Amino acid sequence: MGGFARGRRRAQRSGSAASPKPRQATLAARLQFHEALHLQRTAGNQATRAALAQQTVLAQQVRSGAPGTGAASSTARQSSNWPALAGSAQAALASGDTSRARRLYRRAIRQAVAGARFPDGIPRRVPSLSDIWVSFNPPGATAHSDVEDAATDAHLVKDNPENYWRWIYFTPKSLRQTRAYTEAVITHELIHVRQYTRWWQDYEANGQGTWEAYLNALKGGSARSKGPIELEGHTTALDYLKRMGAAEQDAVLRSVFKHYILTLGYVAPAGVDLEIEPATVRRQLVAAYRSAGSGLRRRMGTKLWEAAIATAKTTSAWEHLADRFRFLLVTGYNVANRTRRQIYQDALDAAGLSLDSLRRR
Ligand SMILES: [Zn+2]
Repeated sequence: MGGFARGRRRAQRSGSAASPKPRQATLAARLQFHEALHLQRTAGNQATRAALAQQTVLAQQVRSGAPGTGAASSTARQSSNWPALAGSAQAALASGDTSRARRLYRRAIRQAVAGARFPDGIPRRVPSLSDIWVSFNPPGATAHSDVEDAATDAHLVKDNPENYWRWIYFTPKSLRQTRAYTEAVITHELIHVRQYTRWWQDYEANGQGTWEAYLNALKGGSARSKGPIELEGHTTALDYLKRMGAAEQDAVLRSVFKHYILTLGYVAPAGVDLEIEPATVRRQLVAAYRSAGSGLRRRMGTKLWEAAIATAKTTSAWEHLADRFRFLLVTGYNVANRTRRQIYQDALDAAGLSLDSLRRR
């Protein structure tokens, strides 16, 4: 805790203490603008990469189309065909053929269930195809800037207490590039299933009034949902990180860091245990960093900076990150270009911290 205080410049900057929020918002906007320019420049490269990836998928299809024998080769065929299946599902949706898209989404999701992790506390239940609820117009999709891949609705537990697949809906983004990503999406939702199963069991044993009222009291506003409830789900995706594509890894890291920071700001009422402790998540992030290659390490650093600038609203949150994730912040800073470095420095400055103190620690 204490050591970081050395680098604070609060005393020198006492005149500029006003309104940290607009400043934070401006930094986030600058970062987005910078990113948009960068994307425009790299769009050409990305198109080339996408074409190459498509060729790889086609090549895999051709190879796996060769006559196979026995169960082992049919399993191999199935898994190497997953990207093609997901690609067909996305193409059907893009062309407006929603009934075909729904069929293909369900098949791709059900195949990925085999690689999902079922947490202790719920029965391992493989869904039928019709159990899998695919929603192409998910509720809240327009209300949130980042549409979720999937969601588990606790209100639906009472309609189907015995079949938790009916509580989960999958959105168009539940299929991206790799099967590992969809496996992680399912594993995340199964964490919510376990969380809500416990609440339901509790309600059945001791609950009074309606399930909705019981739920509202348990959640106590959105802070718990956006904090530890979501953090526990997102953290499980770290186990799948290495098999994901770069953009998928970025999406996972963005979510883990965002909800980590939101959890720091959540004050649990008396008697409520956090679904997951930040210290547990930090250990997993350290382990992920240690076993990552240099490309992934760099992006871990970059995503932490972005999440901090977008989400860390208090000096104490920044101090926490600087103390626990100095290695990531330094990595992210070192790989940033000049524009980004300036934005990062301004963010530290707004939090009363300095780059020197970060390096020295
Ligand atoms: Zn979630």
